[in-house]
Amino acid sequence: MQQPLLVSMLLRHAERHHGEQEIVSRRVEGDVHRCTYRELAQRSRRLAAALAARGVGFGDRVATLAWNGYRHMELYYAVSGSGAVLHTLNPRLHPDQVVWIADHAEDQVLFFDLSFLPLVEAIASRVKTIKAFVAMTDRAHMPALSTVPGLLCYEELVEAQADDFAWPAFDEDSASSLCYTSGTTGNPKGALYSHRSTLLHSYAAALPDSLNCSARDVILPVVPMFHVNAWGLPYVACMVGAKLVFPGPWLDGRSLHDLFESEGVTMSAGVPTVWQGLLAHVEANGLGFSTMRRTVIGGSACPTTMMRTFQDRFGVQVLHAWGMTEMSPVGTVCTLKANQLRLDAEQRIAVQAKQGRAVFGVDMKIVDDEGHELPHDGKAAGELLVRGPWIIANYFKGEGGDPLVCNDGQGWFPTGDVSTIDGDGFMQITDRSKDVIKSGGEWIGSIDLENIAMAHPAVAMAACIAASHPKWDERPLLVVVKKPGAKLTREELLAFFDGKIARWWTPDDVVFVDAIPLGATGKMQKNRLRETFRDHRLP
Ligand code: ADP
Repeated sequence: MQQPLLVSMLLRHAERHHGEQEIVSRRVEGDVHRCTYRELAQRSRRLAAALAARGVGFGDRVATLAWNGYRHMELYYAVSGSGAVLHTLNPRLHPDQVVWIADHAEDQVLFFDLSFLPLVEAIASRVKTIKAFVAMTDRAHMPALSTVPGLLCYEELVEAQADDFAWPAFDEDSASSLCYTSGTTGNPKGALYSHRSTLLHSYAAALPDSLNCSARDVILPVVPMFHVNAWGLPYVACMVGAKLVFPGPWLDGRSLHDLFESEGVTMSAGVPTVWQGLLAHVEANGLGFSTMRRTVIGGSACPTTMMRTFQDRFGVQVLHAWGMTEMSPVGTVCTLKANQLRLDAEQRIAVQAKQGRAVFGVDMKIVDDEGHELPHDGKAAGELLVRGPWIIANYFKGEGGDPLVCNDGQGWFPTGDVSTIDGDGFMQITDRSKDVIKSGGEWIGSIDLENIAMAHPAVAMAACIAASHPKWDERPLLVVVKKPGAKLTREELLAFFDGKIARWWTPDDVVFVDAIPLGATGKMQKNRLRETFRDHRLP
């Protein structure tokens, strides 16, 4: 049969075949909320009807500023299911960036969790296309006074509609959701996913050698739903009928551990920084994990000490994974092959430290500077190129031109990561050619920081590089050449960043140098700076 692969299929399946399965959410309102997939489906239909009643049409972008929770999940299905495009805004960005991205996406409606009311108040009069603002709460919790024009109440919108909305059928290549990735050169760029790409990605992510999800699992995604669709887990959960547990804004070790234990969580997913907080809490309080079987760790390299602690001490298997916003995001997962099970513990950890092997659907290769393919011998390192049905061919609105590399007559997406691939197909990241800093799993744009520094009257040249940090993995370090005779201290320069960017983007340190090495084309050679300052101790 010819059937388009649509996001609404996932919800239909979950309602019909896993209707009693639970979704548990810690809410911004402070309590723990429980519902079933059946209720998710009913409320998503009502919400879809409410969107239609407000004039949201096919292909229109509907934005969210929200934590992981059941209402956000309803939006995932109501928006995409009805043919509109879900645009998950990242609330950690500076308000100026949020405005820029919302304008660029031409968002029509903005749904937000109450925690983000101050942010929404700061941007409401500045965004150009948003016609309606909806607070994701009930009447009793609606803010008494707000400067947001015509603020609507989520529960009222849902309750006002009958449960008779029929999910429309349309071309599976239609857009379903949109995620911006900031930090790379220039303005943030949108990765637009289709219904087809989302469903194929879900199949691949659920496989035993990928994230290994089933109806027997209780999944708690720590990775935010505003960060590459929580790595696809809200879709995978419906596909396999797993119980879902959403932590809301509470991502500290104690809150997560409490929820893991009280809800019988079997698997989770997040960046290394989150797991550090969790492990510190568990170790300090002599706790353990009674139901957790495995956790997906990605977004940044997972340290081997973390793997050992999870696996040897607590019996929780670590699934090291790699991907990108541009890849929906799953690219590789590090699950051992049969021959590797015979290795001793040390050798196995060495394999697990790699980012893993390609899941079916993702093809990858490494190339040298001239584009020649390098051998898969675990030694040769080159730029990592990928292709596949859930990898973008270009950015939303053709931003930044055509990114694809065509060195063999085929289009490959350049990841900006430098890696090796071994004979068993395991990829290991060794460096990054893209000019960005990744702090606690979120991007910091080095170019933005350099532009601000360069605007200071005493600065002649500034380069921003990633310095390694024990908690955040990477933090920005600013390398500065002063103008001749100019006086400038570290503190003065750092104070210059106040209000111009999100506070957590502020560089951790400044070093003054006489010169920054330049390449043949006059570009700053940041790889040489990274070498020089590899062991720089941040304050
Ligand atoms: P995500 O954080 O969900 O992986 P992003 O688009 O924000 O998606 O970041 C993608 C980039 O993050 C990759 O190109 C790579 O540089 C880095 N990255 C992701 N996973 C890993 C990993 N396991 N090890 C090292 N770097 C990683």
